[in-house]
Amino acid sequence: MNHIGVIGSGTMGRGIAYQAALSGYDVILQDISKEAIEQAKNYIHDLAAKSAEKGYIKSDQQELIHSNLVYTTDISVAVKEADVVIEAVLEKMDLKIEIFKQVNEFAPAHAILATNTSTMSPTEIGATTKHPEKFVAMHFFNPVHRMKLIEIIRGMDTSDETVKIIKSVAERMGKESVEVNEFPGFVTSRMNCIIGNEAMNMLMEGVASAEDIDKAIKLGLNHPMGPLEMADLVGLDSRLRNMEYLYYHLGEKYRPSPLLTKYVKSGRFGRKSGQGIYDYSAERS
Ligand code: NAD
Repeated sequence: MNHIGVIGSGTMGRGIAYQAALSGYDVILQDISKEAIEQAKNYIHDLAAKSAEKGYIKSDQQELIHSNLVYTTDISVAVKEADVVIEAVLEKMDLKIEIFKQVNEFAPAHAILATNTSTMSPTEIGATTKHPEKFVAMHFFNPVHRMKLIEIIRGMDTSDETVKIIKSVAERMGKESVEVNEFPGFVTSRMNCIIGNEAMNMLMEGVASAEDIDKAIKLGLNHPMGPLEMADLVGLDSRLRNMEYLYYHLGEKYRPSPLLTKYVKSGRFGRKSGQGIYDYSAERS
C-alpha cells in the first residue's frame, strides 16, 4: 500500500494529500478545477514551509512532501496506480457516486476506495461500486495535519480486511482511529452539527454576540474552539449540506438554522471565502 489517489483538492483533499505525502506515500492529488489545484499547490507549499520553519517537520520531510506529490486534473492519472483512493469532493451524494463510477473505470481491482464524507452512507455509495467489500468511509478532520482522529465507518458490505488496511493507513499517517457503525453523521458530525446549529440559532435570536457565544463555549465548557469559529473553518456551505442531509434523514432536530442558510445565500462561506460569521479579509490580503 504505497500509492494514494486523492480526489478533490479543496479544504480537505489538500490536507489529506499533505499528510499522506509527509507519511511517505506516493500521492496524486486531483481536482476538476485548475484553479483549485493551483490553490492546493500554494497551500501545501506554504504549510510545508511554515511547518519546517517552526520545527514541526525537518527540512528533508519538507522535500519529501514535494517529491511525493503530483497534481493533476485527470482522474484516470490520479487513480490508475492507486492502492487507496480517498475522495474529498463536495458533500453531494450524486457527485460522489459519479466520481466512484469513474474511479472504478481506471483504478486497479485491488484498490481500496474511501470517501471522506462527513455524514453520508458508505453503504449507499459502496453499493454502486464494483467491489462494495473494498469500500469504506474514512473521515478526516480539519485541519488534517493537526487533528489526531480518523473516524472509520463500515458500509454494510465493507470487509474486515478493508477496515484493517484503512486502520493501518490511518496509523501510518500518525492518526488515531475509531470504528463507527454507519448512521447519518456518524459520531462527530452529528454532535458537531447540532452544537454549531444551536450556536447559529442563538446568534439569530440575539442571545449574545458571535464573539461572546464562542467565548462562553471555550471558557465555560472548555472547548478548544467556539462553535461559530468552527463553522467558519468547516465552511458554511459544507456545514449547510451536512445539516440538510441530517435533517432529511434524522428529522426536525437537525433543521438548518435560517441564519446559516442566509449566510450561504449571500456567498459568505467562512474562512475559505474571506467572510463568514467573522471577517477574514485582513488575513487574505
Ligand atoms: P471544498 O468545497 O473545500 O472542496 C471540494 C473540492 O471538490 C473543490 O476543490 C472542487 O473543485 C472539487 N470538485 C468538485 N467536483 C469535482 C469533480 N467532479 N472531480 C474532482 N473534484 C471535484 O470541500 P471540503 O470542505 O474539502 O469537503 C470535501 C468533503 O470532505 C465533503 O464530503 C465534506 O463533507 C468532507 N469533510 C469536510 C470537512 C471540513 O471541515 N470542511 C471535514 C471533514 C470532512
